[in-house]
Amino acid sequence: MTKFTDIDLRAPILRAVEEGGYESMTPIQSKAIPIVLAGHDLIAVAQTGTGKTAAFSLPLIQLLLSGEGKRKPKTVRSLILAPTRELAIQIEENVRRYAKHLHYKISLVYGGANQNPQIKSIALGVDILIATPGRLLDLMDQGHIKLHEVEYFILDEADRMLDMGFIRDIRRVVQKLPAKRQTLFFSATMPKSVEGLANSILTKPERVEVAPTATTAEKVEQHVLMVPKNMKRKLLAHVLSDEALKRVIIFTRTKHGANRVSRNLEQLGILSSAIHGNKSQNARQKALNEFRDGKIRVLVATDVAARGIDVDEITHVINYDLPNEPDSYVHRIGRTARAGATGVSLSFCDHEERNYLRDIEKLIRQKIPLMDNHPFHLEGMQPADYADKDDDDDDDRRGPRKGTRRGSPHRRGDGQKSNGSKNPSNSRRPNQNANYNEDSGSTNKKKNKNRKHYRPSKA
Ligand code: AMP
Repeated sequence: MTKFTDIDLRAPILRAVEEGGYESMTPIQSKAIPIVLAGHDLIAVAQTGTGKTAAFSLPLIQLLLSGEGKRKPKTVRSLILAPTRELAIQIEENVRRYAKHLHYKISLVYGGANQNPQIKSIALGVDILIATPGRLLDLMDQGHIKLHEVEYFILDEADRMLDMGFIRDIRRVVQKLPAKRQTLFFSATMPKSVEGLANSILTKPERVEVAPTATTAEKVEQHVLMVPKNMKRKLLAHVLSDEALKRVIIFTRTKHGANRVSRNLEQLGILSSAIHGNKSQNARQKALNEFRDGKIRVLVATDVAARGIDVDEITHVINYDLPNEPDSYVHRIGRTARAGATGVSLSFCDHEERNYLRDIEKLIRQKIPLMDNHPFHLEGMQPADYADKDDDDDDDRRGPRKGTRRGSPHRRGDGQKSNGSKNPSNSRRPNQNANYNEDSGSTNKKKNKNRKHYRPSKA
């Protein structure tokens, strides 16, 4: 069952889907939609990029048809809770597209914006409310929104909600919902804490799971570039000098890091914008729009700000810093290779980040191929050789993770020794050949000679 016409969706919804250019369902859609239409609670393990928004909104739009016109002032028939403003905005855009041939009242409330237009938009009641937790609770506390009429409750990106510390907010919201409701729970990952939350708010849920992290990661052509920390800036300039990097998101771990990278790019004459939690909602939205419209080539973002960003045709994701949470890596690289497209990710890894790299490779169950044909390739350096000289990137970095043995670098490649293979087919997994040697300081230039050159190198 892969076509939308194979499931029991009403004509106005099918028409909107067709007009959106969707030909067949994605796996999460073909699994989840029939379950939701049948009235079951649902746990769906799916990431952004899998088509999950349509997986919950299409059946929701259909289910709401049965009570059309039932709106009462200040009440909500269905509530979609999302962790960030950006994600909430995107969900709203999608829902509006899918419901464009129907007459629903759809509203959006999120923080960092004037609340008055939001209050006005819900005054007469809404069919579908998309909200971030903080602003929703604010408006509830002020008596502008009442949740006792909610028939359908959707929690999106539950794992990120918990990461962002929204657990108490979610519980407060759930307390106000009627016990008789249908609940859909979407999360990219299901650690115990998330499972616990799911158990406490769902009733006899069906469970579907698609694109485990490894599968998503496989769609992206990934590379890791070993580089001394104080050379990352130059490496970035080098990499971006290739015009094949048309639309690029650069990730940094911190807000300061994002600002700094954006400033550096400005000095290089590369148009970019930074988005992170310290930027006003308007500034973030403006940056996103400019990026979407192709007015700026590069967006610099922190993990939280970038969650759920839905911009098509991002050609490259650059991890200027490696994330200290391996899950974030998968989310980051998932910004490219969306909806079946392919994409490239380039991860800059300095000496202190090798533990992060190891954790990421463990999670995605693959070695990330090493790209060493760049001028700043770090081979066999001891930490003292490239201690911070001209870069202050570290001032807001969290310290090395527990177990990082500074000054006694562990070998990457799980102790595999170089086999000296010159077989070009091996060059796609060069790090399995341990082609750089942290311990001896030697460079394996001979071996590297046969290495395939990857984008974005022009060599
Ligand atoms: P999501 O995972 O909801 O963020 O969706 C990722 C992207 O896939 C969005 O740009 C959607 O518009 C797009 N999309 C969702 N479902 C389909 C589909 N069945 N066919 C093609 N594109 C889709």
